[in-house]
Amino acid sequence: MREVRVRFAPSPTGALHIGGVRTALYNYLLARKNKGTMILRIEDTDQGRYVEGAEKYILDSLAWAGIQIDEGVGAGGPYAPYRQSERKGIYLPYAMKLIADDNAYYAFDTAQELEAMRERLKATAGANAQYGNQTRLQMSNSLTLSESEVKQKLSSGEPYVIRLKVPQGEKIELTDLIRGAVSVDSTEIDDKVLMKSDGMPTYHLANVVDDYLMKISHVIRGEEWLPSAPLHVLLYRYLGWKNDMPQFAHLPLLLKPDGNGKLSKRDADKMGFPIFPINWKDPNTGELSLGFRERGYLPDAMINFLAFLGWNPGTEKEIFSMGELIEAFTIERIGKAGARFDIQKAQWFNQQYLKAQPESVMVGYLMGTLKEQNISCTPDKALKIANVMKERVTFPQDFWGQGKFFFVAPSAFDEQTVAKKWNEDAVKALSGFSEKVRSMPPLTAETAKNTLEMVTADLGIKTGQILQILRTTITGGASGPDLMMTLEILGNEEVVRRIRYALDTLKLKVA
Ligand code: GLU
Repeated sequence: MREVRVRFAPSPTGALHIGGVRTALYNYLLARKNKGTMILRIEDTDQGRYVEGAEKYILDSLAWAGIQIDEGVGAGGPYAPYRQSERKGIYLPYAMKLIADDNAYYAFDTAQELEAMRERLKATAGANAQYGNQTRLQMSNSLTLSESEVKQKLSSGEPYVIRLKVPQGEKIELTDLIRGAVSVDSTEIDDKVLMKSDGMPTYHLANVVDDYLMKISHVIRGEEWLPSAPLHVLLYRYLGWKNDMPQFAHLPLLLKPDGNGKLSKRDADKMGFPIFPINWKDPNTGELSLGFRERGYLPDAMINFLAFLGWNPGTEKEIFSMGELIEAFTIERIGKAGARFDIQKAQWFNQQYLKAQPESVMVGYLMGTLKEQNISCTPDKALKIANVMKERVTFPQDFWGQGKFFFVAPSAFDEQTVAKKWNEDAVKALSGFSEKVRSMPPLTAETAKNTLEMVTADLGIKTGQILQILRTTITGGASGPDLMMTLEILGNEEVVRRIRYALDTLKLKVA
């Protein structure tokens, strides 16, 4: 079997979209599974779209996600350089070969001429407004000009591009590993520019030449590149590389959380979830976009989530470490249908990974915030808080966000609970309970529970009637972690103080 060599080939035109991370991941999984090579190639031939900092952002994002690059930008390797702008000189000879074989041609059309062509074509019903086999003979190019005119234009330094001469009426076929047989009528393909007037190759030429030279075995990329694949097949054929053509796998689209349409940054912004792996500050607008990392996603959780966007293992198992993904991954199990970007599922994965963290890590999350807030806390207390909170948190910052009441007494109480549960029985039970707690040995979850049961039994009411209002008195909220453990963690003095405060603040409400 051919050695597996895959590449992730982003263009540094802005922040790497989360979908790009999925593409990188699937490439990486295939490489690792087959003891192959994962290559990072930076496709920066479109200098007009180059964005400062985007390449570093790509490297940082992949590193955070745990996607290791074996060869390429940042890693070096036998086919260096891996940045296309640094390979500029490589591409022209291939374009020249295409011209020599009559598979490409020089085109000298000015912007105005191109615009005039489009206008003309728009007027003709049914015609595609494109530069191609229907129109090329009406344009200014080496197919329509005499040899001497062409020579003259070239030597006088007139700007030109090189276009592919796409055949007419031919069926171009390829087999996509995900989509199966794909076939396109060549008449629909325009004569794509291969070399631009600035001397740079376009994506199509550079991509194919580099995939060939770098011995790429599989091209795994987003579905948006499927329409380009037939063109690439033509290039492989014309360049004489048909037998070395990589296998194609075009990944399904990522859809909005409701499944209606393609996921976009706008949707993500509107719904308040990140779309970039790590924070990104747009150097042009100054706009800061929150990343998955900064939002509190753990890299392994994000990877697990992304792996399932289009792929599934065919079993019920959902939690997969990177190692397990590598073992389980096959291209055959990637689906064709668009994958819904279910951000709640991402949160669920994060929860699972968060609560599986070692205790010391969870304590670290809490201690970090406490330090920032200048709040002191014994390691023992932090550990208890982490343990009682771990089933409830989605993000590391939730230990503080949802557990703040362990350190700061509530000054307001959940209104609904108060309206429903604050009554004479509640006042009696809370007073009785705080009296007992005042003189008890240090509370434990168990003694707290027994004491509350005793107090309510004496009053002839059910403990269940009191639990909710007790929680609100202690935490201010209507829900939270295990109440008896919460009492143990807070300790007698604080429990008594909070109940007294609530009784004082709320007493006016009692008849
Ligand atoms: N440079 C292209 C991109 O930005 C790569 C597409 C491909 O993998 O062929 O996505």
